[in-house]
Amino acid sequence: METIRRLKVQQGFSADEKLNEKTPVVEQINVIINNAKNLNASDIHIETTRENCIVRYRVNGDLRKVQTIQKFIKNQFITELKRICKFNISSIDTLQDSSVEFKTLQLTIRGSLIPSLYGENIVLRLINQEHQPCLSDIIRKEQEDLSKQVLNKLKRKSGVILLSGATGSGKSTTVYGMLKELDKKIKKVVSIENPVEKRVAGVSQFEVTKKMEFKTILKGVLRHDPDIIFIGEIRDEVSAEIAFQSANTGHLVISTIHANNPSSVVPRLKGLGISEDIVDDSLLLVMSQRLEKLLCACKQIGGQSSEGCKKCHEGVIGRTALFDYLTQEQILAGERYKKFDDTELRSKGIIL
Ligand SMILES: [Zn+2]
Repeated sequence: METIRRLKVQQGFSADEKLNEKTPVVEQINVIINNAKNLNASDIHIETTRENCIVRYRVNGDLRKVQTIQKFIKNQFITELKRICKFNISSIDTLQDSSVEFKTLQLTIRGSLIPSLYGENIVLRLINQEHQPCLSDIIRKEQEDLSKQVLNKLKRKSGVILLSGATGSGKSTTVYGMLKELDKKIKKVVSIENPVEKRVAGVSQFEVTKKMEFKTILKGVLRHDPDIIFIGEIRDEVSAEIAFQSANTGHLVISTIHANNPSSVVPRLKGLGISEDIVDDSLLLVMSQRLEKLLCACKQIGGQSSEGCKKCHEGVIGRTALFDYLTQEQILAGERYKKFDDTELRSKGIIL
C-alpha cells in the first residue's frame, strides 16, 4: 500500500526528482544509469530470468554484464525502473515504449519493454544530449575527400543526400553533425523525425505522432518555406515520393534509408517507385556508414598489455565511423561506389 500511495503522490514529480529519491532500489537504479552514461554505453539491457534479473551495458557495440538483481528484489526493481522511465506501471503484459529526459544528466532515455516468460525485459537507449560531435570529428581525416563532398552538397539549394547503415551504425550522429554544419542564420532548417533524438539549435524539429502523421507535418512544414528538410527515414513509397518531390521543388532533403551499400540505394529507390530520371536529377550523395572499434595506444602495434589500461576497456577506447560513398557525378558516369580502404588504419593498429 505504501508503495502505491507513494507512486500516486509522485506522478507529478520530475524525472530527475524521481531518480534522486533516497530509497535503496532507486539509488541502485540511479547508479546503473549514471555508470552507463559515464561509460558511454549506448544501451542498458535488463533481462528477467527465472532466478533473477541481469543488467548489461552495450559499450562500443558489445554487451557486458554489470549487475545481477536478486530474486527477492527483482519485482520491486522492475516496478521502480518502469516508474522512473515513464512506462505504464499498471500494465505487465503488453509491449511498451517510453521516453524520459533527465535534465541534470543531459540525458534522454528511450525505453522499450517486452513481457517475457519470467517477467519484463527492458532495453533503455541512452541519448547523450550534451555531446554532439561536428562533422569534422565524425568523418576521419583519411576520408577528407568525403568531407569536401558533404560540405559541397550541403550548400546546394535542392537535391537529396542519403545516409544508409545498419541499426546502431551511428547514422543519427552523422545526420545531426550535418545539421550542425548548416548556416541556420540565413537558412530555414526543419526536421520531421520519428522520434526526435537530439535537439539541434536553430532547427525546427517535429515529431511524428498518432495525431501528427508524417504527411500532415510535411504539408504544414512546406507552407513555412524551409530551405532544408531532414526526414528521419525513407521507409516506404510515401516517404520516398515526398523526399524526391520536395527536392524537385527547390528544397535540400537529408534522409536515411535502409540499404547495404551506396550502390544498392538506387535500386532500392526504384523499388519504392522513384524513376531513374528523378534519381539522376536529384540524388546528390549517398553515404554508407559502419562503425569500427578504435584501439587504445596500449593495444596498438608495439604495445605490451593485452588486458587494456585505465583509459580503455580491453584495449578499445571507442568507435570510429567509416564511410563508403557515391556522388551524383559518379552515379551519372555509371561508376561503382567508392569503398573506403581501411588497410592502412588496420596495419597501423588504429582500428580493430
Ligand atoms: Zn588502453
